[in-house]
Amino acid sequence: MPTIEQVVQRDICVGCGACQFATRGEINVRRNELGYYSADLSRARPHNLATASRVCPFSNESQNEDVIAAAVFPAVLKSDPRTGRYLSIAAARVRADDYLLGSSSGGLTSWILMQLLESGHIDGVIHVGQGGDGLFSYRISRSRQELTARRKSIYYSTSFNTALQSIHGDGQRYALVGVPCFIKSARLLCMEDRLLAEQLVYFIGLVCGHLKSAAFAELLAWQCGVSPAGLAAVDFRLKQPGQDAGRYHFGARAGLVNSEWITRPTSQLLGGNWGHGMFQLNACNYCDDIFAETADVVLGDAWLPEYRADWRGTNILLCRNALIQQLIDQGKTAGELFIQPLSVAQAANSQAGNFRHRHEGLALRLADDQNAGHWVPNRRVMPDHNVVGNRRRELIRRRRELSRASHGLFAEAREQGSLDLFIDRITPLVRQYERYNAASLPRRLLGLAKRRIQLILS
Ligand SMILES: Cc1cc2nc3c(=O)[nH]c(=O)nc-3n(C[C@H](O)[C@H](O)[C@H](O)COP(=O)(O)OP(=O)(O)OC[C@H]3O[C@@H](n4cnc5c(N)ncnc54)[C@H](O)[C@@H]3O)c2cc1C
Ligand code: SF4
Ligand code: SF4
Repeated sequence: MPTIEQVVQRDICVGCGACQFATRGEINVRRNELGYYSADLSRARPHNLATASRVCPFSNESQNEDVIAAAVFPAVLKSDPRTGRYLSIAAARVRADDYLLGSSSGGLTSWILMQLLESGHIDGVIHVGQGGDGLFSYRISRSRQELTARRKSIYYSTSFNTALQSIHGDGQRYALVGVPCFIKSARLLCMEDRLLAEQLVYFIGLVCGHLKSAAFAELLAWQCGVSPAGLAAVDFRLKQPGQDAGRYHFGARAGLVNSEWITRPTSQLLGGNWGHGMFQLNACNYCDDIFAETADVVLGDAWLPEYRADWRGTNILLCRNALIQQLIDQGKTAGELFIQPLSVAQAANSQAGNFRHRHEGLALRLADDQNAGHWVPNRRVMPDHNVVGNRRRELIRRRRELSRASHGLFAEAREQGSLDLFIDRITPLVRQYERYNAASLPRRLLGLAKRRIQLILS
């Protein structure tokens, strides 16, 4: 049996839409009542299930990140198990401060896309922006104006089938932007579809902690006084001059015109703490790719103390493509970009929480699932109960439970029109998590101190 069936049955589907594209719509991927995309395999014939399984990032019939990277990148690239292959690693920022206000981090993602477009290497960009199906969806941008308007991180479930269908066979070349699993499934699609492979010429990855359902935007907005029914737009990353870059605000609007943005510090909103994993998709519990290992370049936030202190935001950047590297080097020489080389250890350190969740955490979750007799996808991390101590083990389990419960509890609160209902029911789970979190803090601080000493010595 193709394991895509297990992926969907166990709710490990991330909703990318690759199976829908590969089966010309026989598999339908749509947003469910919990606010995230997932596949419906009920009408798929066996040969199409087999095809879909080859492009699904979580099935056992698809190639893993190591195999894909070996096929698409030159062997001369350096490699590290934490980051995958790389040509260069740096902290980076666009130097124009007014431009940076409209970007989430250092602005390099949209800057690279603009260079590719304006130098004629691509005709358009396939990326997530406002509008379409829900608050955000995959859109096609073909001009500087469109690229400038569609910036910032979108923590919201989307699917790329409709966008890919709309460009398929139009004879033009595109860059695709996505979180690591979307980049992986697009690469897998290109292995199956030569026409698409000729069109998707650059893959731009975003470092990814986890993806959220639409409920994340709705919960934060509701606390700003905008109910789910009246919500017209959100901004997940409003920079705060003079403050730590991680202390960004969230904004919500009830209408697209003549309506004020209502903003609050994200960290003060229930659900705004990424450690709680509220509305995280279950797929993310099974993911081991942090640095989009199959992308030509990957960008994230340089969450290291020296860059965090700068409110403008700074990217962590890993480049794997010679032409993109050349564009970056030219931007540096022209004085448009701030670029500071970093070591692979610094890159990994900038995502320390991600590694705890996705490597140690994944090993434990796989072991827990196997013990419970559940199917699990083949991952590059092995199941292991003893990868962490007792307290951390409980913390990882509490986080998983909090994450799982948040979806249903919010759907009920939304139906009943009561934010308080959600707050009352989720709060005990948050408290329980925080008790374990406080208990494991001294160990994490010790780990941090050890890593800093290693960095100084390296
Ligand atoms: C779900 C998610 C989780 C993330 N988790 C982490 C993390 O744990 N650690 C970390 O360091 N960084 C993470 N990032 C990346 C980070 O938030 C920034 O997006 C990244 O640093 C790029 O910032 P920038 O200023 O260079 O981009 P900008 O100049 O703001 O441009 C952003 C570009 O990315 C596109 N885009 C935004 N969101 C999406 C999306 N969901 N799918 C496809 N295209 C999109 C936009 O359309 C735009 O073209 C995450 C991003 C996302 C979307
Ligand atoms: S993860 Fe993507 S390819 Fe796999 S079942 Fe879900 S939508 Fe289809
Ligand atoms: S954490 Fe992994 S599975 Fe989840 S959205 Fe990010 S890349 Fe995809």
